[in-house]
Amino acid sequence: MGAVFPQFVKFALKVRGGFGGSATNINPSKESFFHQSMKDIAIIGAGPYGLSIAAHLRHRGIPFRIFGRPMDSWLAHMPKGMMLKSDGFVSNIYDPDADFTLKQFCVEREIKYSDLGLPVARETFTEYGLAFQERMVPELEDNLVVSLDRMPGGFVLQLDNGETVTAGRVVLAVGITHFEYIPPELAHLPSEFLSHSFRHHDLEGFRGRSVVVIGGGASAIDLAGLLHETDADVQLVSRQALKFHSMPTGKPRSLWQRIRHPQSGLGPGLRSRFFSNAPRAFHYLHECLRLHLVSTTLGPSGGWFTRDKVIGRVPLLVGYTPQAAEVRDGRVRLRLRGNDGSEREVLTEHIIAATGYRVDLNRLPFLSAEFRSKIKAVNGTPVLSSAFESSIPGLYFVGIAAANSFGPVMRFAYGAGFAARSLARTMLKSIPGDSISIPAVLTSGKEKAGSVEEPALRA
Ligand SMILES: Cc1cc2nc3c(=O)[nH]c(=O)nc-3n(C[C@H](O)[C@H](O)[C@H](O)COP(=O)(O)OP(=O)(O)OC[C@H]3O[C@@H](n4cnc5c(N)ncnc54)[C@H](O)[C@@H]3O)c2cc1C
Repeated sequence: MGAVFPQFVKFALKVRGGFGGSATNINPSKESFFHQSMKDIAIIGAGPYGLSIAAHLRHRGIPFRIFGRPMDSWLAHMPKGMMLKSDGFVSNIYDPDADFTLKQFCVEREIKYSDLGLPVARETFTEYGLAFQERMVPELEDNLVVSLDRMPGGFVLQLDNGETVTAGRVVLAVGITHFEYIPPELAHLPSEFLSHSFRHHDLEGFRGRSVVVIGGGASAIDLAGLLHETDADVQLVSRQALKFHSMPTGKPRSLWQRIRHPQSGLGPGLRSRFFSNAPRAFHYLHECLRLHLVSTTLGPSGGWFTRDKVIGRVPLLVGYTPQAAEVRDGRVRLRLRGNDGSEREVLTEHIIAATGYRVDLNRLPFLSAEFRSKIKAVNGTPVLSSAFESSIPGLYFVGIAAANSFGPVMRFAYGAGFAARSLARTMLKSIPGDSISIPAVLTSGKEKAGSVEEPALRA
């Protein structure tokens, strides 16, 4: 720490609160405040990953603070009426004892639930996430982090309420936020004529309007079907033929089928089983292989239940890629090139690019350019250790930003269990015993004492 230490102590006294409490009631010893706050962990993001990690740290009595709007991607950035593509049994947010699964939530609220074959409504999953937060992570602070920077011995975070917070370690669990991808052929269009699917929750504004959805994945298919139900004049443009998950037959699977295509968190199959059950082994694969597997596994496809909403209902322009677009007379002229070299033009009032998400550290607005440039990255994604730590000691990434390191499971809620167990273990090993406190877990409104000597985390 050397010469910067006295300077930092001055800074630490200026901040309104560290993890140890507000500046008014901190220990008179400046150094003890410094050490207390810098031992602690800040989690940025309150989606399935952030909440699962927080629940695990809480259970272990590891001090942390967590910031973000709970379940915001699901609440505000996915369309009303959407169903989850993932089955019920893999659509959980994780607490160490699996006390509050989606199944448990549905039992409590008397919502119809099945592990397999019964699609989960976005509304149910969102409500479940909010209930999980209230019960398992009551200390969540509904604030956005507007800047994150390094400081001697840790990090300094600025919140949108003006508060400055210090932390020894930071877990970035910002999910798909900030990573919307729009093809360059469309990116120049003004927002009145072009938006990303991430911007749409309530589709009412499209009633009676013409709209073109671009994309061939679940997001595009969902939106096209829901826009049609909203009486929008919608067309779907996809580069490739649309694919859908197969509809469950409801029949028991034979022993051979179960061996050849075992069930897994990412659907049936040996490869999916490997990706969902062995993210740590995935991490040890050669980087080229990891990148290849992530970019080629679980390509675009819709849920089986979306087929009937689009096929025969929504006009499909399949085998076409956008080439150019311009606004003329209050409408967008979209030029498409067919896979066979043919060209055609479509006129519409609005284009929705349901063209997915690409992780790129340069797009995280709260990191300064200088800080970002210090994080070792490959193709814009952070290079991570087997403990999710980036090249900046104490800075961790989870969720989609960790997919190139731990595999495709990191793109789904199912991966949050592994990430949370792994991080809780790492954090527990590296913090001094006197920092651990006995946590209180809220269970159905009752306080339940936890213990730091709880059984080991499940593998
Ligand atoms: C249309 C669509 C359908 C999907 N369907 C499924 C599905 O069926 N099953 C499935 O498992 N997965 C599905 N996914 C993937 C889904 O993104 C993940 O499952 C899950 O949401 C990832 O959780 P997360 O916590 O990493 O990120 P997110 O859920 O994206 O949460 C990130 C959180 O970080 C917060 N945040 C961002 N920036 C800041 C900041 N500066 N300060 C504070 N907080 C911040 C956000 O507000 C948000 O709360 C789908 C994704 C899309 C787009």
